[in-house]
Amino acid sequence: MVRVYIGLGSNLADPEQQLRSALEALGQLNATTLAGVSSFYASDSLSPGQPRYTNAVAALDTELAPLALLDALQAIEADQGRERKERWGPRTLDLDILLYGEEVLDQPRLVVPHYHMHARPFVLYPLAELVAPDFRLADQRALSELLAECPFVGLERL
Ligand code: ATP
Ligand code: MG
Ligand code: MG
Repeated sequence: MVRVYIGLGSNLADPEQQLRSALEALGQLNATTLAGVSSFYASDSLSPGQPRYTNAVAALDTELAPLALLDALQAIEADQGRERKERWGPRTLDLDILLYGEEVLDQPRLVVPHYHMHARPFVLYPLAELVAPDFRLADQRALSELLAECPFVGLERL
C-alpha cells in the first residue's frame, strides 16, 4: 500500500459537484481506499479571464502502480466530460498526482512530485490539512517551509 495525494480542481459545470463526483469515483477505484479529503477551496485561475476554481486534495492508500493510477484518474476526468483543447484551459475536472509515497518519477506521462505543487497555494493549503505538521515532500522539502513562501492569496476556504 502506498499513500498518495491527489489534487482536484474544476472550474466548469458546477465545480463543487464535479469534485464530489470525483471523490466518489476515487473511493470506488480498484485496490484503493479513500483515506482523507481536505476542505474545498475557491481559487483564482492561473490563466487570466477564466472562472474561479474549486480545489481540494484527497489522500488515497493504493496498490495501483503509478501509471495505472494515472490511467484511472484520466478515465475519471473523461467520464466527467474533461476535454483537452488548450493547455490550462477551463475544465470540468483535473486530477493530478501530487505525491506517490516517497517516489520521485520523471517519465514522459508522469512527473512526481507534481512539478508545480511547491508554489500553488490551492495545493499546499489543502494538503496541509491532511498531513502532520512536520511533513516533508519526497524531495525532503518541509511543507511548513513551502507554506511560509506561499502566501494565502487568491484563495478562500469554503
Ligand atoms: P498542470 O500540470 O500545470 O497542473 P494540467 O493539470 O492542466 O496542468 P493536464 O492537461 O491535466 O495538465 O495534463 C497534461 C499531462 O500531464 C497529462 O497527459 C499527464 O500525462 C501529464 N502529467 C505529468 N505528471 C503528472 C502528474 N503528476 N499528475 C497528472 N498528470 C501528469
Ligand atoms: Mg493540474
Ligand atoms: Mg492535470
